Amino acid sequence: MAPFETLRRDLRTILHTMFGEPLPTFRRRSPLARHGHTLSSSATPETLVSRPVRIVEVVRETPDAVTLHLEDETGRAFAFHPGQFLSLLVSIEGVELRRAYSICTMPGGPRVAVTVKRVAGGRVSNHLVDRAAVGDRLAVLGPRGASASPWIRPRTATSSSSPAAAASRR
Ligand SMILES: Cc1cc2nc3c(=O)[nH]c(=O)nc-3n(C[C@H](O)[C@H](O)[C@H](O)COP(=O)(O)OP(=O)(O)OC[C@H]3O[C@@H](n4cnc5c(N)ncnc54)[C@H](O)[C@@H]3O)c2cc1C
Repeated sequence: MAPFETLRRDLRTILHTMFGEPLPTFRRRSPLARHGHTLSSSATPETLVSRPVRIVEVVRETPDAVTLHLEDETGRAFAFHPGQFLSLLVSIEGVELRRAYSICTMPGGPRVAVTVKRVAGGRVSNHLVDRAAVGDRLAVLGPRGASASPWIRPRTATSSSSPAAAASRR
């Protein structure tokens, strides 16, 4: 904000306070606003309801990382921005566990993929790395998460560069 603007705003605030008028509403700024970035709100009613998906491809990237390609059972496309994640609801021995995994495909296709890296002693990651198979059904919540890039827009490309290497480096 320019110094003159700041001075004007401060004077206006003082005058409003002195004469008992209500203060002008302060605008909430996102932490990245000064860089011109916007944080998209990620929670919509649609993303708060779980949706059934099927594993349509399993790529065992390394002994400790697996990429799961998912399709919505109803054929509905996934609308998401790069950087968002899905919450997978995985049933293990009758208990439903929820874990977040970043989407690692480009927006626009009928599928989404996530790469899961084994965590020592972790229940869901070990289960998925060792046991996930094509045809398995699970549910997901989301996509969720802020997209903070002003230059990244939803795209219609269907390409999917494998993020496995990145995931296995995490
Ligand atoms: C936004 C977001 C995005 C993510 N994206 C990815 C992704 O793309 N890929 C990915 O691989 N992961 C990702 N994660 C991490 C992922 O959500 C899981 O946390 C991870 O897979 C571990 O889950 P788990 O069930 O295997 O481990 P958990 O069972 O939750 O255990 C985690 C750790 O805690 C220890 N632990 C568990 N219970 C106890 C206990 N009672 N006492 C002591 N220690 C215990 C375990 O031994 C293990 O080391 C993401 C997380 C977030 C928040």
